[in-house]
Amino acid sequence: MSEMLIETQVAVIGGGITGAALIRELSKYKVDACLLEKEGGCGFGVTKVCQGLLHGGISHLTSRTVKYHQDMPFKEYLLQPFLLKENLQNLGREEYFSLAHTLNEEIERPGRLVLAEDKEDMEMIALIKDASEDLGMRGISLLDRKGIEEMEPRVNPGFIGGLFDANEAVVLPTAWAIAFAENAEQNGAHIYKDTEVLDIDEKKDHYLIRTTNGMFKAEYVVNAAGLYADDVAKMVDAADFEITGWKAQQLVIENQDYTSRVLCGTPKPQRGRLVIPTTHNSLIVAHTFHPMTHKADRSTTKEGVTELLTWLHEFLPSISDKHLISAFSGFLTFNTKNPNDHLLESPKRGFITAAVSAPGLGPAPALAREIVRMLADQGLECTTRSDFNPYRYKAPRIIDLPAWEKNEKIEAEPKYGHMVCRCESVSEQEIRDAVRWGARTLDEIKYKTLAGFGRCQGGFCTSRVIKIMAEELKVSPLEITKNGRGSYILTSETKSVPEKGPKEVSL
Ligand SMILES: Cc1cc2nc3c(=O)[nH]c(=O)nc-3n(C[C@H](O)[C@H](O)[C@H](O)COP(=O)(O)OP(=O)(O)OC[C@H]3O[C@@H](n4cnc5c(N)ncnc54)[C@H](O)[C@@H]3O)c2cc1C
Repeated sequence: MSEMLIETQVAVIGGGITGAALIRELSKYKVDACLLEKEGGCGFGVTKVCQGLLHGGISHLTSRTVKYHQDMPFKEYLLQPFLLKENLQNLGREEYFSLAHTLNEEIERPGRLVLAEDKEDMEMIALIKDASEDLGMRGISLLDRKGIEEMEPRVNPGFIGGLFDANEAVVLPTAWAIAFAENAEQNGAHIYKDTEVLDIDEKKDHYLIRTTNGMFKAEYVVNAAGLYADDVAKMVDAADFEITGWKAQQLVIENQDYTSRVLCGTPKPQRGRLVIPTTHNSLIVAHTFHPMTHKADRSTTKEGVTELLTWLHEFLPSISDKHLISAFSGFLTFNTKNPNDHLLESPKRGFITAAVSAPGLGPAPALAREIVRMLADQGLECTTRSDFNPYRYKAPRIIDLPAWEKNEKIEAEPKYGHMVCRCESVSEQEIRDAVRWGARTLDEIKYKTLAGFGRCQGGFCTSRVIKIMAEELKVSPLEITKNGRGSYILTSETKSVPEKGPKEVSL
């Protein structure tokens, strides 16, 4: 039997924040476009381990400081022209605020507080403030000890001052990748999950893409495969670079009003420590740096956890280790061709590589526009659609509704009153709704409803969520996966002898 061939104008490979923002941008035009993602949902690559910061201006300057090697005067070094990723970041950050209304996703602006330990640190942050003024940045202020106490009373009294950037914002990155992709789908784009690109055959005026989910014929291909962008570029003999990076271990801590600001130390060469309040009541402690050994390594170490807890206590001494929820790791990637910046190039007609390093989240919407411009330059006809709908439907969280509305909903559907995830207060019906709106994996449920995000990390609710998903999808619970591609959670019925293939089970 011959394999099915799907024809499209543009195939986007990779559904991280880059590919997802791009497919939504393409859906604004009369263009037939599809997104091919190897995982069971969007945003489960590097985007999943991202801290979610939409950087204010100060973080560009502090991350420059971390890389300073004294080969020019410090201030002159800070005032070097912005890189592509920094320019796109500045455009993208504020755009997320308007997108939050249309895509119905959360965003907060905690600001960033850079803390100074001693006189030398104070001199450094004063220089950074000076440079920020020369660059025309606003919302940045120097604080003394009293100013820090007023802003964040639980911060270590050993810090003598700080620099506050009111612009820094934070989002939940995977939820945003899902939101971009869902809105694109609503506007006619096709999202193929569980679809790994295995091979690309370059023809005279198109590309033939072999995947685990059939063949695709595309006039244009955009390689947004993140950590694997070099492997995809190799498929068309266009990989004169490699993707490598730093393994970054991070912690998730319950935030019991410890801080509402992003905290970091005064930058020192080769050192970056951060405590980040998320949009859902936890803190991320970031991050250790270790060279990447292999791309699939997601391990965490006891030493890494200890190191991160030590830093956390340096910032917030009253935090107890018992508030540690989990540890995870991922790769801060860079490309070997242009290690300080994103790699955005078209090595062949009709083929664009967008290998994105950090920060990649904030730049995504502006980068998407840039890629569409490149496609148009290569001949893609981009006529805007008059019926593009920027609004993405997302059911409100029951817990956030006023009492009268909650009661009305529960009266109409009692399953809204049945709490399944107690940590995040997610009801049975919200999980059913998420499945009806397209979630097929446990991780998609997690990012769409927050079920499993809290203190117990799904310890209590996972079995219930699986049961509800199985009922909605009319499949055996054995068929529910964590994130597609064989990541089954249940292997056999309790007390049964494991057999080949999924089997009926009652939970
Ligand atoms: C620890 C850490 C913290 C960070 N913090 C921040 C931050 O606070 N702010 C910020 O802006 N940036 C941050 N970054 C950087 C940011 O996360 C990345 O720049 C961004 O997520 C890259 O997105 P992407 O879509 O390009 O790549 P990815 O998210 O990796 O997406 C690529 C996608 O391609 C898919 N794919 C790969 N190969 C194939 C194939 N053959 N076929 C089909 N699909 C394929 C993958 O499954 C994946 O979903 C951080 C990164 C790390 C590691």
